Amino acid sequence: MALISDESLERVKQAVDIVEVISAHTDLRRQGARWVGLCPFHEERTPSFSVDAQEKLYHCFGCGVGGDTIKFVEEKEGLGFAEAVELLADRYGVELEREQEDPRAEARRQQRRRLGELLDRTAAFYTSYLWDSEEAGKAREYLGGRGLGEEVLRAFGVGYAPSAWDQVLLRGQRAGFKVDELRSVGLVQRGRGGGEYDRFRSRIIFPIRDRRGRALGFGGRAMRSDQGAKYVNTAETDFFHKSHLLYGIDLAKEAIAKAGRAVVVEGYTDVLALHQAEVREAVGVMGTAITEEQVAALSGMVDEVVLALDADAAGQEAMLRAQRVAAGRQMQLRVAAMPAGEDPAEMVVAEGGAERFRALVEGAVDLTAFQVGLVLERTDTSSPAERDRALTELAPILAGLGETASRDDLVRQVAERLDLEPALVMGRLTAARPLSGGASESPGRGNGAPRASQRRGAELTSRERRERALLAMCVALPAEGGEYLTRLTDAHLSPTGVRAAAWLREHPEDPASNLPHDDDELAGLIAELVILAHDEPASAEAMELNYLLLEQRRLEAEIAAAGERDDYESRATLSRERAALVERIARAERVGG
Ligand SMILES: [Zn+2]
Repeated sequence: MALISDESLERVKQAVDIVEVISAHTDLRRQGARWVGLCPFHEERTPSFSVDAQEKLYHCFGCGVGGDTIKFVEEKEGLGFAEAVELLADRYGVELEREQEDPRAEARRQQRRRLGELLDRTAAFYTSYLWDSEEAGKAREYLGGRGLGEEVLRAFGVGYAPSAWDQVLLRGQRAGFKVDELRSVGLVQRGRGGGEYDRFRSRIIFPIRDRRGRALGFGGRAMRSDQGAKYVNTAETDFFHKSHLLYGIDLAKEAIAKAGRAVVVEGYTDVLALHQAEVREAVGVMGTAITEEQVAALSGMVDEVVLALDADAAGQEAMLRAQRVAAGRQMQLRVAAMPAGEDPAEMVVAEGGAERFRALVEGAVDLTAFQVGLVLERTDTSSPAERDRALTELAPILAGLGETASRDDLVRQVAERLDLEPALVMGRLTAARPLSGGASESPGRGNGAPRASQRRGAELTSRERRERALLAMCVALPAEGGEYLTRLTDAHLSPTGVRAAAWLREHPEDPASNLPHDDDELAGLIAELVILAHDEPASAEAMELNYLLLEQRRLEAEIAAAGERDDYESRATLSRERAALVERIARAERVGG
C-alpha cells in the first residue's frame, strides 16, 4: 500500500493554519495564548473550545474532543486520515509524495495476527472443554440452571477452563507459541517462584470479542466457592482494554443498527439470556457503570442507549462522564429501572419475563432525570441542611447538561421539590463553576465530590485530575518531567494515563507533533496536556506534591489488596509506609502552599 511519506506529512502539518481551518466552523477569538470559541462538536452557549495556534492543537474542555488539524478535518468532514491529509495538502498547496510501507509496520501487523490466532485457538479449546469434558459437568449444570440453552452458549462461544495449572500453557507451546506470547495476551501469568501457569482455572469462560468477532480476552466465573474472586478477567494487555469493549457487540451489532438503540446490561449471563429471549440489541459493560469509551464505541451506531444496569449503585462521577460524552455525540442515555434484587437474566427466563423486560426498556427515563430523581427521593425536604446537601449533589448533574431546555425543566422540578426559587437553584450551578481548568486546582483540596462545572476537567475523578496536572507539568518542564515519567508506574495511573505517560516517554521533545491517528482518546489527551502545559503554571513543588498524592493512591490500593488476600503482615508494612507518606505530603503542601 502506498503511504504518504513522512516528509510530505510534515510539510502539510507546517503549512496548515489551524485557526483558519477551524474558523470555517466556529468563530474564534484570541484570549491570551490561545484562541477560544463555541465548540463545533457539542452544543453550548459559553465557549469551552480552545485552539493553540502555535502547537496547532485543539481541545474542548466541555466534551473532551481534541487533536491536531488533521484530526479536526477527519472529524468535521467525516474523512479517513489519508483523505484528510490530501484535503489539507490540496488547500495549502503541498505536493504529496508516496512511499512503500514501513516493513516494521508489516511485522507488527503479522505479530498481531499471530496473537489473534492464539486467542482464537484458546477460545475454541475452552469451548470444546465445556461440552466434552467430565470435569465441566457442574458448569454445564449451572448454565442450564440459569435457563441458558446450548444454542446461545455455542453462539457466544462460552467455554470452561480446566482445573489443571498448565493446560493452556502446554497446548499453546505445543502449537508453537512462545511463553512470552502466551503471557502478552494474558493467558498465562508468572507465579511467585518465577514459573508460568494458566490464568484461568476451574472457571466458566466467556470470550470477550471485538466488533468483528475476534477474541481479545476472557472473563472467567469461578465454579468453586474457595476460588477467591468470583469473576476474573484477562489483565489489561496491548490487545485487551476492558473499559473499551462491549461484551456481545459482535453478535448484537446488526440488531443495534436496526433498532437504532443499544440495551446495556452488566453481566455476561444477562447478555446471553437477553439474546436467547430475542432481545438481540443487548451488550454487556462488565462493570457497574458504562465507560466513556464504551459510549464512544456505540456512538455512530445508535442515538439511544438504554442502561438496564444498576444505575443507583454505579459511581455518579462515572455516569456524569458517560453522560457528557453521550451529549457531545448527540446520543441519549436512558435508564430502565430494574426491580430491586432482580437482574435481567433472572427476569427474562421467567414466564412472560421477556415482555416485562421490553416494557421496562420502552419506559426508560433520561439518565439525568433519573439521577435527579434518585437524589430527591433520598432527601428529607423538611430539613434545611438536607435540602442544601441535595442542591450540592444536584448542581454538577444539572450543570453537566449545559444550557439546554431539559436542564431548565429539571431546574424547575428541583426548585419545586425543595421549595426554592428556580433562580436560586440556577445560581448554585453557576456559582459552583470553577474559574479555571483542573490543573490549577490545588490537588490537596480534592475531596472526591464532583463540582458543578460545564468543564470536563472538573468531572474527572480527583486521581485523574492529579494525573493530568502532573503529566501536563511533565510537558511544561521536560527535564524534571523525565524523572517523574520514570517513577510513574501503571499502578499510579488510570489506563488512559498509562498510555499517555508511555507516549510522553517515547516523545519527550515534541509530544504533539505526531499525534497517533489510530487512537483518538490518546491523541485528545495529549492535545489537552500540551494546551494545559502552555497555560497553567508548573513548578517542581507542585509536581512533587501531585506525585506523592498519586503514590498515596497506589499504596491505598495495595493495602486494600493485601487486606483482601488476608495478608496482614504486608498490610501492616504498607500502612506504615502510608503514614510516612502522609507526613511527607503534609510537608509538601506547606511548601507548595
Ligand atoms: Zn465540545
